[in-house]
Amino acid sequence: MDRFRQLDRHRVARREALKGALRSAVAITAGSAFTGRAYAAETKATGYKGNKVTLSDAAVMDLQKSLRGAVLLPTSPDYEETRKLWNGEFNNLNPAMIAKVATAEDVQNAVRFARAHDLLVAVRCGGHSYMGQSSCDGGLVIDMRAIGDVQVDAAAKTARVGGGALLGAMDAATMKYGLATTAGVIAHTGIGGLATGGGQGRLQRNFGMTVDNIRGVEVVTADGRLLKANATENADLYWAVRGGGGNFGIVTAFDMQLHAIDPKVTSYNFAFPMSRVKDAMKFYLDFSANAPDSLSVSFGLRSPEKGEATCSISGGFIGTPQAAEKLLEPIKVLGTPVGTPRLSDIEYVKIQSAGDAANPHGGHYYMRVAYQNTPDMKLGEHVIEVMSRAPVPGLNLGFSQQGGAGARVPVEATAYANRPAQYQLALQTKWEDPAQGPDLIKKVRERWNDIKPATNGGFYVNHAADEDMNEAAKNYGANYPRLVEIKTKYDPTNFFHRNFNIVPKKQSAQKT
Ligand SMILES: Cc1cc2nc3c(=O)[nH]c(=O)nc-3n(C[C@H](O)[C@H](O)[C@H](O)COP(=O)(O)OP(=O)(O)OC[C@H]3O[C@@H](n4cnc5c(N)ncnc54)[C@H](O)[C@@H]3O)c2cc1C
Repeated sequence: MDRFRQLDRHRVARREALKGALRSAVAITAGSAFTGRAYAAETKATGYKGNKVTLSDAAVMDLQKSLRGAVLLPTSPDYEETRKLWNGEFNNLNPAMIAKVATAEDVQNAVRFARAHDLLVAVRCGGHSYMGQSSCDGGLVIDMRAIGDVQVDAAAKTARVGGGALLGAMDAATMKYGLATTAGVIAHTGIGGLATGGGQGRLQRNFGMTVDNIRGVEVVTADGRLLKANATENADLYWAVRGGGGNFGIVTAFDMQLHAIDPKVTSYNFAFPMSRVKDAMKFYLDFSANAPDSLSVSFGLRSPEKGEATCSISGGFIGTPQAAEKLLEPIKVLGTPVGTPRLSDIEYVKIQSAGDAANPHGGHYYMRVAYQNTPDMKLGEHVIEVMSRAPVPGLNLGFSQQGGAGARVPVEATAYANRPAQYQLALQTKWEDPAQGPDLIKKVRERWNDIKPATNGGFYVNHAADEDMNEAAKNYGANYPRLVEIKTKYDPTNFFHRNFNIVPKKQSAQKT
């Protein structure tokens, strides 16, 4: 059977499944005292301004007919699993429909459908938005995960990465050829959110942030067009998607620059008792300020569930353990570490997924972040003082080093504006029992309210969990007016607003 007839058969099968789902949705409404999510049963949905929208079965069928992928309704067997996000805090969001798009044309059709019916839309890749922006209550989720192919051109050192790919798939595909690009440190994170918002990672000090390695994109804009954007075509859009997040459209493909690296890198960790915390912090700030690009140095303060609190100096090195040991020689001034220090080589793809299990899907997470542009011992001492107050079990504070090649890119070169940042401070906690959430969040907020004013560098939009959504202008700084111009050109009605929103001219921020 030829490929097209096969596809046709799949489409017919999906259409029948959808008809079944629609029939059962109607049956539930008619045949039971169903009082729950009426929009799902009756195909009631939420409009993009929070208004109510009713979709006829014929309209939903039309959407399904226009897609190679599938439309899931709340009654569809896969709906429940598909709708869930990484952060369990947001698993109360129930979209009216999920369009599991399979091609760029599907994305266009889903966008046009949402426009025609005035629907609230969320765009989902890896689902790792800390604040649950890749889903929505009652709207349409455009789920990109089936557009996850990674094609590597080893000779050209480039990769075409589908807008729904996970980082683990990208790293695995490129490292087959000894090539990599900057990507985040958890393999189940998606490229869609990460690469449009900035992209920190183990290689950022060597090769710049992920946005610095995007050579071009294909993007579906709010009017349903599929545009190429690169240095010569739609250059304004190309500039904006490299840091402006999901504000400008849905990226269906990223063309990434790759770099040759050895299959193995070095990873290290030294823990010290809290009695040495001030010395360790001072050492960290001095040492990291002078570290070469290939070495990244992080500082951590941990309140463990059990046992003694510790501080740690850890990180990675793009090179051998022997070379790393030499560079890290000065750390000996801090005396004997507690526990077993680690300094060893590990395959790059393995270290890139080493933290996956500790950050499982469905856990409950809360984090606050800020950038710091200078090594500042006053800030260091203040952080130590705040963290020494009555311990909150499981609370972590980390300084992760930025700088390097990413910081040498001029601020105006891409929309990502936090170039001067040398450190990112992150205060975070996680929990399993949802009942613990309010108290933990309150405690983290209290501590953060004390720490944040002492920092001086804005924040990373991709790590925003509870930052002020009205701070876009401040955070994007000199790039903000240009972002507003480009947003107004490509998305004048603020159709894409479930993101760190850049509001087009003559619009006020959406509340959905
Ligand atoms: C465990 C964990 C580890 C992380 N580690 C890092 C890290 O090392 N480095 C780092 O930089 N960040 C890191 N982050 C933050 C991460 O970059 C953001 O959470 C990012 O939004 C995740 O992308 P996603 O595709 O998984 O998210 P999703 O939740 O699927 O999407 C988030 C938003 O991105 C936009 N979006 C998604 N797909 C597309 C697309 N194809 N086109 C246009 N817009 C799109 C939408 O606005 C959407 O609301 C981490 C997050 C988590 C939860």
